Amino acid sequence: MRFFQRYTARIRRLRPVFDGHLDAVVTVAVASSLAGLLAASLIASRDAVVLAIALSACSALVYVGYRLRPKVKLRRAARIGLRRGEFHVVYQPIVDTRTRHCVGVEALLRWGHPKFGAGGPGLFIGELEGTRLLSALTCFVLREANNALTQLPFPQHWHISINICARHLLEDRFVEDICESAGPMLERLVLELTERSCVERTPRVVTALSHMKQRGVRLSLDDFGTGFSNLDLLADFRFDYVKVDRRFLALRGEARIQFLKSVAALVHALGAKVVVEGVECAAEHDVVQRSGIDLAQGYWYGKPMAVDQLRAFASASASASINTLHDVTGTEHEA
Ligand code: C2E
Ligand code: MG
Ligand code: MG
Repeated sequence: MRFFQRYTARIRRLRPVFDGHLDAVVTVAVASSLAGLLAASLIASRDAVVLAIALSACSALVYVGYRLRPKVKLRRAARIGLRRGEFHVVYQPIVDTRTRHCVGVEALLRWGHPKFGAGGPGLFIGELEGTRLLSALTCFVLREANNALTQLPFPQHWHISINICARHLLEDRFVEDICESAGPMLERLVLELTERSCVERTPRVVTALSHMKQRGVRLSLDDFGTGFSNLDLLADFRFDYVKVDRRFLALRGEARIQFLKSVAALVHALGAKVVVEGVECAAEHDVVQRSGIDLAQGYWYGKPMAVDQLRAFASASASASINTLHDVTGTEHEA
């Protein structure tokens, strides 16, 4: 153990040589114990010549590690992509199940890579989880949504939901980041947190979220039922919305309606509203409405759309209910 500590301390001091890829060095050295042991023992001897050899051995290892790890490559490409403007935001309507009027939108991130084309967050969010970059992307989404708001005749009562990553919540700058990037949009903002990100109910997370609530920001528990669903989690954070994952719409027969009714009763008892995700047809809408679910989101109401389509959608929805709007919602990449 002491050997390992001394080894990592020395490696840390050599950080500039590795140009920020220190994680790759340690991982490679640990994974390849023979090479790691050799490099560590060379560094441990205070001889300048062997140190130089050790350094080049380590650099080679870093290079190999760097080449071998697609995750590192993807993170680097995303960092560059953010600087080059390769990311954009699309907006998906959220409707009231009774009136079928739109009450808000969820902002969803997209990455248009020059070589690999358009990609949804399923391809990259998981890989970026736990990095500062994902927090930077959240700020980007907020700024974009704010710009969209200034361009659109966006109805006053519409809210804007933004997905928040777990790590961001733990950062000192979280509240500042959100308030600065959201600007005047703050009072319409809903922060969507997945069950996984809330599991760590540290004092820091509780304080950050109560700060946000004091500023009028609403909270939504995303993907309910897919993580560690527990009742005190719902009570502790005083969520305004609970979003039921679309996999529960796949339940068959009575089980589906009973499940949705039970969730609705539970969430209503806590003073929150239920949103069901992934409604794709009229039959599913019917079940959702009969179960007492307040709000819904899904392709049947509108796919995620670019800001231009949202403009058409917003003006049409001011005068019509959502079932007459299919001609303006289209498919996501038509815009
Ligand atoms: P989510 O927050 O649960 O978002 C809903 C996902 O369901 C979106 O996928 C949306 O396109 C998809 N969806 C909506 N209606 C339907 C439907 O009727 N059928 C089907 N099959 N799918 C539907 P998307 O955009 O690919 O996002 C996937 C996940 O990536 C999101 O799940 C969210 O967890 C994450 N994500 C998206 N944007 C961001 C972001 O800006 N920041 C962070 N941290 N995560 C994001
Ligand atoms: Mg979400
Ligand atoms: Mg969800």
